[in-house]
Parts: sequence; C-alpha cells; structure tokens
Amino acid sequence: MSILKVLNVKKDYKISKNNNFRALTNVNLEFEKGEIVSILGESGSGKSTLMNMLGGLDTDYQGDIIVDGKNLKKYSEKELDKYRKNKIGFVFQSFNLIPHLSVLDNVTIAMTLSNTSRKKRIKRATEVLDELGLKSQIYKKPNQLSGGQKQRVAIARALVNDPDIILADEPTGALDSNTSIQILEILRTIAKKGKLIIMVTHSQLVASISNRVVTINDGEIISDEIRSEKLEYTEEKIKINKNKQNLSLFSSIKLALNNMKEKFTRNILVSLGASIGIMSVITMLSLGEGVKDYITSTMNENVNPLVIEVNKQSDFDEEDDPFEYQSDYFTDNDIEILSKISGVKKVQLSFSSMVMGSELILDDNSYSLFFIETISDNILGEKIIEGILPGENEILISNRLSERMYRNNDVLVGKKIKVRILEAGRFLEGAYKISGIYSGNYGMNHIIFNYDDVEKLYDDNDLEINPTGLYLVMSDESYVENAKEEVINMGYAPSRTEQMLEVFNEMLAVVTYVLSGIAGISLFVSAIMILVVLYISVVERTNEIGVLKAIGSRRKDIKRIFVSEAFLIGFAAGIIGIIFTFIIRSIANYYTNNLFDVSVVKIKPAFIIFGIMISVIISVLSGLWPASRAAKLDPIESLRHE
Ligand code: ADP
Repeated sequence: MSILKVLNVKKDYKISKNNNFRALTNVNLEFEKGEIVSILGESGSGKSTLMNMLGGLDTDYQGDIIVDGKNLKKYSEKELDKYRKNKIGFVFQSFNLIPHLSVLDNVTIAMTLSNTSRKKRIKRATEVLDELGLKSQIYKKPNQLSGGQKQRVAIARALVNDPDIILADEPTGALDSNTSIQILEILRTIAKKGKLIIMVTHSQLVASISNRVVTINDGEIISDEIRSEKLEYTEEKIKINKNKQNLSLFSSIKLALNNMKEKFTRNILVSLGASIGIMSVITMLSLGEGVKDYITSTMNENVNPLVIEVNKQSDFDEEDDPFEYQSDYFTDNDIEILSKISGVKKVQLSFSSMVMGSELILDDNSYSLFFIETISDNILGEKIIEGILPGENEILISNRLSERMYRNNDVLVGKKIKVRILEAGRFLEGAYKISGIYSGNYGMNHIIFNYDDVEKLYDDNDLEINPTGLYLVMSDESYVENAKEEVINMGYAPSRTEQMLEVFNEMLAVVTYVLSGIAGISLFVSAIMILVVLYISVVERTNEIGVLKAIGSRRKDIKRIFVSEAFLIGFAAGIIGIIFTFIIRSIANYYTNNLFDVSVVKIKPAFIIFGIMISVIISVLSGLWPASRAAKLDPIESLRHE
C-alpha cells in the first residue's frame, strides 16, 4: 500500500512579474513503506524542489501530494507543522545541527517541540543515539564530532519522533566513501523497520544501495526503475505521545538560556546598557520615598503646634525694588503688624546668629561654638532629654555637644560653662549654668539661651541685638493655618524647617526631572539596543530557524524562543539595574547622612519588583518584532542560508 503519492505535480518559481520558471513538470510517483528510493539527477534538475514539497516545507505547487490518504495541500499551517514533526524526518547534506546544543539536546529538541517530559525525551534520545553507536558522544558539541558522527546525530534527530518517512538530501555528500557506506548501512536498517527512505543524490554509491532509483532531468521524471526487491521489513512502532504539540515555556526559556550563554559577553553588555534606565527608575522612586519619609518625620517632630515661627525673607526676587531692601531683623513695626493677626496671643522674640570663632569652656576644655539661638515656646519640654528649660543665666546644650564633651548628661546638667562669643572683633564673655540637654535637628556646636540673657550679654558690651525671628504664640490651634498663610502673604518667611523643606522639594523636583529624562531616554535606547541584538541573533541563526521549522516547530515556538531571549535580557538588565541602585543608595546615603543626618534613598521591595517588571516588559516588547521576523522566515531559504 502506498504511503506517499505524488500526482501531476508542477512547480513554477516566480522569477519576475511576468516570468515563471518551471522547476517540475507533471511529476507522478508512488512510494511504499520499506522502500529506499534514490532520486538521481544533475544539479538544478529539481530534486530539492520535490523534497521540499514532500516534506511539507513548500505548498505552493499544482497537483496533489497524498500522504496516508490525506492531501497535503489541504493541511492547515498547524497540521503541516505536526506533519513535519511526526511524519517526516529530515536529514541534510550539511547535517544542520544546532552548534550551541549538545548532541543529546540536538536530538531531544525535536521532542522538546512536542512537550514530551524531559525524562522520556532523554530516554528515547539516548536509545536512538545508542542504536547509532553514539552513546559515548552525547555530551559533546557538534564541532567536536567527525562528519560521519555528525550525520549519525542528524539521523538520530530525524528518527527520534519515530516518523514514517525519512527525507535525506545528499546524506553522504559531505562524507568520505567509508563513512558514506556506514551511513547508508544505517539508513538500510531504518528501512527494514518499515520506514520509507527517500534520498536525493547524484552519487552512484548511494543509488547502489537503493532498491529503486528515480531519475529526474529538468524537472521531469525520466526513469523510475526498481533495482532490487523491496526490503523485507518488520514494522516497529514506538509509543510516543504525539498529541502534545506545544513547546513549553520552560523549554523555550531553557533553549534561550542556552543560546544566551553562547553569546554571553554580548548579552551581558546589552543588559548592562539596558540596566541604566532601570536604575534611574528605581533610584527616582527610592529618592522620592526617602525624601517623603524625611519630610514626614521632620513635620512630625515635637514642635509646639500653637507656635508659628516667622523669619525674614532672606532672598529677594528680582522684582523687588533693591532700594527697598528689607532689614534682616525684625523692627517694632513688624512686631506690631504681626501681633494683629487674629488669634495671636503673644509675640516672642528670638535671636539666632552664626558665631564662628566662638567657644565654650568647660573645666578648662574648649569646644568650638558656631551657632546661638534663643528659647521660645516653640521648644517643648519633651525635647529636653535631661534637666529643664533654661531660666535666667542658664543655657541648654544639644545632645550632640554633650556627647562631644564625653560626660554623662546628668553630670553636665548644673555645671557652669563659660561662653565666649566672637562678635565685632572681640569676645563677649559670660558664665551660665547648663540647665539641660535637648535633642533635635540641631548641629553639633549649638546652644540655646534666654533672649534676655543674650540681649544683656551684648548690652554689657555696648552692642545691640535685634530679633532675627519671631514666634507667634496662638491662642487656639484653629487660627494656626490662616495665620501661617497671612504671615507668608505679608512677605515674611515661614519656619526654617518649612523653608528647608521647600528647598528640598525644589531640589527633589529637579533631580526627579533629570532622572526621569535619563530613565526615558535610556529605556528607549535599551529598547532599540535589544531589538538590534535580537535582530542580529535572528540573522545569525537563520539556519537554525530553518532546521527548527523543518523538524516541526510552529511559528509560535520560534517566536517563543526569541521572546524568551528578550525576557532573559530584560530580567538580567533588571537585576543589574537593582545592583546599581543599591550602590547608588550606599553612596548617596553616606553623604546625606554625613551632611543632614538623613538617608535620602530608600529602596522598597515594591520598587525592585516594579523595576524588574518594567525591564522585562520593555525588553519583551522590543523582542516581539525580531521574534516575529524569525517566525516568518521561509524554512527553505533559511535552510539554504549559510
Ligand atoms: P536540485 O536540487 O536538483 O539541484 P532545485 O530543486 O534546487 O534543483 O532547483 C530546480 C530548478 O529550480 C533550478 O533551475 C533552480 O535554479 C530553480 N530554483 C530553485 N529555487 C528557486 C527559487 N526560489 N526561485 C527561482 N528558481 C528556483
């Protein structure tokens, strides 16, 4: 019973718009199981054209090809893939093994495409390789094998899915005569198992082992002779589940990983490039988070909610009349206006000054003093960690200063300390009792007086001080919001903390713009980079794609392999980006901790996940085009590609 029939097949190749080239004319052939058929003909006679049709790689012809009673022409693309995978085994002249896969993987790949379990795949592949005498070679790469061995691997690959028909295109064309005989012997044994073997050749040696020789010339069958009786065969059917058709996602990632390893440097470099965008995104988010945290914690500091700090506007805009220069201290007039704001119970004066060159003397030890400030209702008792608020002739020192004095806080409280303030070229000296230690966002060389004490100290030295700040003590919290607004509308500056936050926010906005610019550009650049690299990869692997198609990969499978590669590049870029972000975090936080005592970059786990997701999504999106290019490649042309 014939398994394969070719009925009135004609093939025209389109050469130009109005020109066709007839490669096959009225071909009629019938093949049976157990036959070894040689198709003999000169180069250009149409042998490959015929083979491609029999193998389901080319469906553009006139006439019919009937396999097991079914017309190939009527097959859908999916059915053709299945046909190539399960019915047909291809053997090529130049072996067409996939160079970066081991012998075992080259054979199992045909089964990987049908999602057979790994264990079964390996078992079956090892059996077939063993039969072909390759048991000891299974972990080698193709380039570590001799020509004969390579062709045996290719035969194993063709056999592994137990097809009914083997199509061999010049199977011994690249082999010496001894090896050729071995390979032909193998093909004979295969035929004995009830397979149909069709070989294209122009070698008489090959023809000599065939039981039938079909000669073709200029696209026409000129002879079809039976040389010997068909081989006696005993059909051996191997149980293989041929229904599962998909290349599993896991397998495609594994294949992609394999190829990535092959081109490791290139892929790492691309990932490295792509990681910059991801790094910018995560850094941006983490910076925002750090600053937000800082702002909330500063806002939540124990400041008296009933007190509004008012400062003089220190910078003036260009619009301001330079002649109407505001003094940087408050006058009686200011106090008068501000005290009229509704809800203001009283106005407290405050004085703060940079006093570089000044010092504190405690038990003959000198400590430098940079900044003095006065007490107000703004400083809450809660912030005193030892002692009490200062009364007359008393001061508070910061806990940072006390730490530097290397004394326990309880020892320091009550001690006399000498303050020497450098002002107008001389020292203003006074002795004060330390009433307590306070903690807060204050620098190290910093003390807090009573306003009256400072005024007196300056007065004793014939100097006058004016309030540099005011505290509006409100009668009720309900007035605070409005009063704050009014203060700003009147042209005064809000509290130093609020001013600082404003500056901080402005800085953050700038940094965010810069980072998002970098992120946007570099994500775009990485997308293109990934696209180009994958495109190159498609071109480099055209032959491999042809092989995969010939052994039954669907377009989807090919696409999946390349998309998986894009996925892996994206994933690697994400990981590298995260590592970079952690490095940036260490550096940035080291400096901000030293300067402001805050960690400004805070990486949350959600940012890490987000970063990896973005990276993978962008990468996969950029991979789609090259992947679909690969999927659409014509298998016949791809196989010809060197
Ligand atoms: P063989 O395998 O016997 O060497 P082919 O089947 O490859 O021959 O080619 C048969 C004829 O068809 C040749 O003359 C060849 O030039 C022509 N041919 C093959 N492929 C194409 C194609 N894609 N476009 C146009 N002509 C082609």
